[in-house]
Amino acid sequence: MGRIIKRILAGMLLLVVALVVVLAVNTMRYKPAAISQAEPFDLGADVDAAARTLSEAVTFQTVSDDLSRPDFPAFVRFVETTYPRVNATMTREILAPNTPLYKWQGSDDSLQPVLLAAHYDVVPVAPWSLDKWVHPPYDGAISDGFVWGRGTLDDKGALVAMMTAAEKLIADGFTPKRTVYFSFGGDEEIGGDGAKAVAEHLTAQGIRLAWALDEGSFVLDKIIPGLDQPVASINLSEKGYLTLELVAKSAGGHSSMPPRVTAVGRIARAVERLQANPVPGGLTGVSDEFFDALGRYFPLGQRVAFANRWLTEPLLERILSAAPSTDAMLRTTTAPTMLTGSTKENVLATQATATINFRLHPRDSIEDVVAHVRETIADPEIEVRHAPGFASPASPVSSSQAQGYKDIEASILAAFGPLATVPGLTIAATDARHYATAADAAYRINPFKIEGHDLERFHGINERLSVENLGRGINFFGDLLRKQ
Ligand SMILES: [Zn+2]
Repeated sequence: MGRIIKRILAGMLLLVVALVVVLAVNTMRYKPAAISQAEPFDLGADVDAAARTLSEAVTFQTVSDDLSRPDFPAFVRFVETTYPRVNATMTREILAPNTPLYKWQGSDDSLQPVLLAAHYDVVPVAPWSLDKWVHPPYDGAISDGFVWGRGTLDDKGALVAMMTAAEKLIADGFTPKRTVYFSFGGDEEIGGDGAKAVAEHLTAQGIRLAWALDEGSFVLDKIIPGLDQPVASINLSEKGYLTLELVAKSAGGHSSMPPRVTAVGRIARAVERLQANPVPGGLTGVSDEFFDALGRYFPLGQRVAFANRWLTEPLLERILSAAPSTDAMLRTTTAPTMLTGSTKENVLATQATATINFRLHPRDSIEDVVAHVRETIADPEIEVRHAPGFASPASPVSSSQAQGYKDIEASILAAFGPLATVPGLTIAATDARHYATAADAAYRINPFKIEGHDLERFHGINERLSVENLGRGINFFGDLLRKQ
């Protein structure tokens, strides 16, 4: 008997040792992908002059709640006069609404062209927030090393950085081999018809871009808990957008004699079922690519977990699903946002509705999500219909192995020095989804380092961009352009 127990114990010990060895070996092998060390690059552009240009750019109130504002054509003219060499060297067309498309002819027509994009329309400033701005949102103050104002981060800063880089390269006598397009959307915040027109215009001419680069993520510093180094997330795709309405009808009547389930009750039950049963998701596809790349930079404890996903995946998925920011990276999100019922407290609703906003993971189509909703609410008396407004599927997932990605990654390193680069997913909607239709690949990052709470300034109060960041952005675009 004793011998048998000893053998079992020895066997178990052997298994534990084997497991520890497997975990340790996997963890040791789990290192950041080797990237050729990028030489630091400084274009030598006049960054203070670029800051003054951005300051002036902010003073145009290009708020896209009203596209008839004279600020839109005025801004397009401002770009034209600010960059005389660009204007003399490139051709330009203006697509509706107010979206200039510049073409920098390359020397080798056998190479596929590329496109750099930014948008110059901005979101409104909430009137109640005006007295909370350190500097008025459209003054373009330069103070404490920052350019302050609406649009500095989103997304006039990128426009100024790429145009400054092009102007300097032309002054230095550079011509790209590939043709390079620059597209500046004037209505990104309200759906991006300008970017859509650009993509259709290129496609109609038989032009297929090798890649397009637009806003998406930033270089995030001290934002991801547990990571001490900045992370540049170069996003490969962006989530889709879908809003559904659930509609329940009933005979109505007086609330003193209600049926056991009212229209409001039906809708409430449906919403509860949807919240309790999120669209399935997990560490697959671009989500796996993102967390696999990111996990390599974590401290040892987390690295062991990410390196051994064959064992830890259910646990990891549970942890990542628990926080909204990481849950959004794993799945199509479900957000009930609006409810309607009766307009009077003692009258039964003849119709009750719930509005649910979904952000689609690339693995789910619009039809998949509608099917999930019908199945989950399991109530044939509730109508499921598309809400008015736009819906779009998630963008295709671009390759993180293609030359465009490698060039962007190397230029980030050249402008920022050593940091973590990972392929990611944009969880909001941007113009990039339109450009993606005319390109073999679309990538999404703004070459600016954002620290801590500065992300809240995006679409928020006291939006600002540091002059240092603007300089890095110029060097990024300069390095990227000279590779083309
Ligand atoms: Zn934007």
